[in-house]
Amino acid sequence: MTFSVPPLPYEYDALEPFVDTFTMKEHHDFHHKAYVTGLNNATVNLQGISLTELISKTILDESLDLKIRTAIRNHGGGHYNHSLFWLLMNKESSVNDIDSELLELIKRDFTSLDKMKDEFNTAAVGVFGSGWVWLVLCDKKLKIITTPNQDNPLNLGGNNLPVLGLDVWEHAYYLQYQHERKKYVDRWWNVVDWKNVSKFFKRYAKEGKPIEVNFDGTIN
Ligand code: MN
Repeated sequence: MTFSVPPLPYEYDALEPFVDTFTMKEHHDFHHKAYVTGLNNATVNLQGISLTELISKTILDESLDLKIRTAIRNHGGGHYNHSLFWLLMNKESSVNDIDSELLELIKRDFTSLDKMKDEFNTAAVGVFGSGWVWLVLCDKKLKIITTPNQDNPLNLGGNNLPVLGLDVWEHAYYLQYQHERKKYVDRWWNVVDWKNVSKFFKRYAKEGKPIEVNFDGTIN
């Protein structure tokens, strides 16, 4: 069983003008592909283990060579994070699609959707170097966390279950926004696919389960 890059669920230009065509093509066709290649190389002797298990459990297995564990952490995280990221964006969705229960939790834990966005944006801008910002459900409470590199809420230990994530590596925005990460982050909210965010929330985080990304990068 080898890992593969899922096709984008929309055209390269579908998120214009908020995420431009060139960025999407480079990001999906080359950056994501590189993580998948690295992950396949690192797991030649670890066939059949799910991506979720690899990045949450296998990387902690000290009987495995540290080099292999590090490669799985970086490339497995890259495959997981990007497979999810493509599905969290779609210009056709609007905030009206947000699940009522998820919205209630956001209001309970952040006062309002706008306050959640503010906290998320501040965290995104504050990531030093490359990483991600996440809305997670942890012990039934929503919170914002950040992870360095291709780390993920699942390999932090604890019970952080991803709900929403944003890539703030320079490759995600620099071609279009150059140094203006804040502008990228602010405008990214225009392409959040609240329909998929809600679907995955109900199917996974709300049930106390991490989102399962399949070998081919699809999510059921
Ligand atoms: Mn990326």
